[in-house]
Amino acid sequence: MTSYKLLLLPGDGIGPEVMAQVEVVLAVLSEAGLAKFEIERDLVGGCAIDAHGVPLTDAALARADAADAILLGAVGGPKWAGVRYEIRAEAGLLRLRKDLGLFANLRPAICYPALADASALKRDLVEGLDIMIVRELTGGVYFGEPKEITVLPDGSKRAVDTQVYTTAEIERIAHVAFDLARKRSGRVASAEKHNVMKSGVLWKEVVTRVHGEHYPDIALEHVLADNCAMQLVRKPKQFDVLVTDNLFGDVLSDVAAMLTGSLGMLPSASLGAVDAKGSRKALYEPVHGSAPDIAGRDLANPIAMIGSLAMALRYSFGLGEAADLVEAAITDTLAAGARTGDIAGAGAKPIGTTAMGEAVTASLRSRLR
Ligand code: NAD
Repeated sequence: MTSYKLLLLPGDGIGPEVMAQVEVVLAVLSEAGLAKFEIERDLVGGCAIDAHGVPLTDAALARADAADAILLGAVGGPKWAGVRYEIRAEAGLLRLRKDLGLFANLRPAICYPALADASALKRDLVEGLDIMIVRELTGGVYFGEPKEITVLPDGSKRAVDTQVYTTAEIERIAHVAFDLARKRSGRVASAEKHNVMKSGVLWKEVVTRVHGEHYPDIALEHVLADNCAMQLVRKPKQFDVLVTDNLFGDVLSDVAAMLTGSLGMLPSASLGAVDAKGSRKALYEPVHGSAPDIAGRDLANPIAMIGSLAMALRYSFGLGEAADLVEAAITDTLAAGARTGDIAGAGAKPIGTTAMGEAVTASLRSRLR
């Protein structure tokens, strides 16, 4: 049986708590003979600053580079709020994304029927929702230069961030979106602001060309990013694959996140380019952060983290059947009424992180019988 090299980076806050539940699921998959994993562990974020003075060591980066997939919990927290900007906890995650070339961020927003009432929107608007947001992750305004604050002659300040995209950057993210759409409903919406931004003009032009040249079977729609935000809360099920840049993707994916009920439910994947051997670098992580307000109290929902493992099984290891089983175990667990505090709603008695992990594992075991 092929053995897959998996690097676990639990990170800070609730990261280690939710990662512990992933380790239990991995053990069940191994026991069942569905897959064999070579597991390594390392530090990222605040815990790495405490141990090594930097949020990601070169050794940890080399391990990440050598792994078939990386699973990351979360980084950051108030303890490290005062550290220098260059070595802040989040810089460890940004370095992983940048140095491994993880340019495509996939964020599914799925509303489980059992949780439709946990959404901020009405049940009929969100029940059965299944959107895949494809966000460009290594370009745009978060990385563009110049990026600075300068002091003007009158003593006031001027801040500059630069929104910049090249043809190649837009082409590769467009391919990811269209390829995914082929495996889904065959529809892509591309969001930008070509009405006021030059980067939006180029984005629209390149996406249109890639579509025309390679994906005539896919339906493409262009939508202005601000209208897209409105449409996501007005009629979210109109979207299937939604491709957008780094900044708009950051915002729109958080809007989509709340449609599903809780940040604790949402996994994500960040993928690099396909290499000559057909594999690609990949990092999987929950959308949520380190949740310092609930860390260390067995309150965190581990489903986003377990769902991130399911994405790794599907996208990095080609283990679609195992991924289906893990996702079905999550659906079964929710349908049976298990709820952590974030998704409990009125009247339900919440269970803890460990109990939720055990409930998912029990569902998985019964599907494996
Ligand atoms: P957060 O996602 O950590 O928490 C937001 C709210 O959602 C909190 O009330 C939290 O308790 C709740 N929540 C989050 N995950 C949950 C889960 N699994 N189960 C139940 N409830 C959950 O965002 P924040 O509070 O803005 O940020 C906290 C820290 O995390 C900051 O240092 C921030 O920089 C960092 N952060 C890291 C990442 C990452 O590692 N990718 C992402 C976002 C924020």
